[in-house]
Amino acid sequence: MSIRRIAGKLLQSFTVLRTIRPQHNLNCGFSTKFHSKPLTFPQPDMKVKLVPALDDNYMYLLIDEDTQECAVVDPVEPDKVLAAVKEEGVNLTTVLTTHHHWDHAGGNENLVKKVSGLTVHGGDDRIGAMNSKVQHGQEFQLGALNIKCLSTPCHTAGHICYFVTGSPNESPAVFTGDTLFVGGCGRFFEGTPEQMYNALIEVLSKLPGNTNVYCGHEYTVNNLKYAIHVEPKNAAIKEKLSWAEGQRKNKLPTIPSTITEELQFNPFMRVGEGDVKTHTSKQTPIDVMGFLRKEKDSFKAK
Ligand SMILES: [Zn+2]
Repeated sequence: MSIRRIAGKLLQSFTVLRTIRPQHNLNCGFSTKFHSKPLTFPQPDMKVKLVPALDDNYMYLLIDEDTQECAVVDPVEPDKVLAAVKEEGVNLTTVLTTHHHWDHAGGNENLVKKVSGLTVHGGDDRIGAMNSKVQHGQEFQLGALNIKCLSTPCHTAGHICYFVTGSPNESPAVFTGDTLFVGGCGRFFEGTPEQMYNALIEVLSKLPGNTNVYCGHEYTVNNLKYAIHVEPKNAAIKEKLSWAEGQRKNKLPTIPSTITEELQFNPFMRVGEGDVKTHTSKQTPIDVMGFLRKEKDSFKAK
């Protein structure tokens, strides 16, 4: 590592010490027409910039702090993405597409017309402008960051989550699209309870507990209202719900959570827990998963 890079790292560390809380971009030109205020989540190895889109979607810039190389997750509104890229002064090279639904992949074709040379990753032939089809376990680099593709079919057949690691001492990140939400999971449009069990329990639950979870929609409050219906005595749910309601009142996002947190309050991540089983009157975790999804599909939060 060059002296310049070491000096840069030291400066970043000081910056992070001063900015442990997420930063508001007060002068970024975004206004209250957005469903949430755009925030950045900086750490020494990577920066994640949350860019709200449509009614309740989240796009994300993922920036490698070493090289300032940048990837965008689900760029449904390319102009907002490009404004954020310009504001950060980074080099956009990569698109990470979680799944083919229009509110995630619908901006790809337009974005590649505006930025040449983009590598567009995805796991489904229905994804527009895709030029790199990825598979489970496949890894690639974004500057010094490592990105691992996790296949999580169920919401859609070709759904991919992207697990990002940088420096060994820093928290990893996972971009979960419509597979895992804060306090919930996506509908089973093209899959089975067994597949969602595999995605949530066998794949995502096994990631390090401090992994930050960046999901595709702001659904947290409704998800946690359902979680309380499933587990009325679970204090972690109550606490997170009251925090999330406070955030939403101020148009602040409830993203990210962590894998450790999800294991405490997300019923779909807790299908083996006694109280969750009791609520469903089902025996196997896969049957519990199926019951919860069906019940949630018609659940009306008060
Ligand atoms: Zn979707």
